[in-house]
Amino acid sequence: MIASVLPTYSRSDLTFEKGEGSWLIEADGRRFLDLGAGIAVNALGHAHPELVKVLTMQAEKLWHTSNLHNISQQTMLADKLVDATFADTVFFTNSGTEACELAVKMARKYFFESGQEERVEIISFSGAFHGRSAAGIAASGSEKMIRGFGPILGGFCQVPWDDIEGLVGAICDRTAAIMVEPIQGEGGIHALSDQSMKKIRELCDVHDLLLIADEVQCGMGRTGRLFAHEWAGVLPDIMMIAKGIGGGFPLGAVLATEAAASGMTVGTHGSTYGGNPLACAVGGKVLDIISNPEFLSEVNRKAGLFRQRLEALIAGYPHVFKDIRGVGLMLGLACRPKNSDVVEAGYAHQVVTVPAADNVIRILPPLNISDEDIHEAETRLANVAESFA
Ligand SMILES: *Cc1c(COP(=O)(O)O)cnc(C)c1O
Repeated sequence: MIASVLPTYSRSDLTFEKGEGSWLIEADGRRFLDLGAGIAVNALGHAHPELVKVLTMQAEKLWHTSNLHNISQQTMLADKLVDATFADTVFFTNSGTEACELAVKMARKYFFESGQEERVEIISFSGAFHGRSAAGIAASGSEKMIRGFGPILGGFCQVPWDDIEGLVGAICDRTAAIMVEPIQGEGGIHALSDQSMKKIRELCDVHDLLLIADEVQCGMGRTGRLFAHEWAGVLPDIMMIAKGIGGGFPLGAVLATEAAASGMTVGTHGSTYGGNPLACAVGGKVLDIISNPEFLSEVNRKAGLFRQRLEALIAGYPHVFKDIRGVGLMLGLACRPKNSDVVEAGYAHQVVTVPAADNVIRILPPLNISDEDIHEAETRLANVAESFA
């Protein structure tokens, strides 16, 4: 008999009942060090007092009104995002997938309105992950994600990861946009070099294409800058965000320049829940905390420490860990045993990591993880490694 919850997930047998900072407490009382942060969602850890406060205060006032009316928390968060980024305007969603949907619609509408209706195609890199909707799976092109779900939404193509020459070859008079994760998350923590990011921007400029950055996972301070594209000094035209921005409350957004967004006029898009008062009240507080330069410089310091500890770990257990990659606190440990076995062994040693493609385990801790917990992470991962001796 089918489970009451549709069985699409491969779940551990853990049930967490409470969270405190970088720690998760299991129903049986065991404490787990959370290096996954709900897949880069709990950017400020669990039960952050300021987030609890803003959420409960908003809960006592107003939960939801619909986008038929002004939502002051939404306007405030949009203003802050516009101030902090390349963007001139913001649309709020409940997830990264919905942000992907709008990014695709926005890019196509931009060319439609400029009289270039034939420009509908979006090029991405293989290994990409942009969500599980019809557009999201088409944008990834991954056989695993699209198999059985045809007909697949048209107007997408992929070139091999970081293959700039391939990208040049794929651009044609039907191309509308290039969609990239500056750092692939699900794909196994692969960062585009600054040079590749610059080349991609250059190609967009030369061919009059829109650059769509998917920063759902790598954005919101994860790499030590507010957004990952800032490292390369290139600006996208459209950016998808989600995960970290809500700190655990479902919230996503599409940020865009005025030009890129120019086709999205009244009636062209909408969402019942997107940008509701609860989500935006929390998102506003998350952004205030993370966008503070002192907070970001701490993320960089902690990232340096974490990387150093993980390098020591690899040196100590070269038969278990192969190398480390990634930027800031978006790290991938390439494993020699099966990554899912390493994640599973982590559970036995009360440390939570997240598997990714290429036999990698992801280390995506809360951005405010303490130095003490970073050292604890090394200890626990060393115990995990010992179990493979
Ligand atoms: C998680 C993720 C998405 C999808 O976001 P959901 O909130 O799961 O819909 C899209 N792009 C990237 C890069 C992601 O990591």
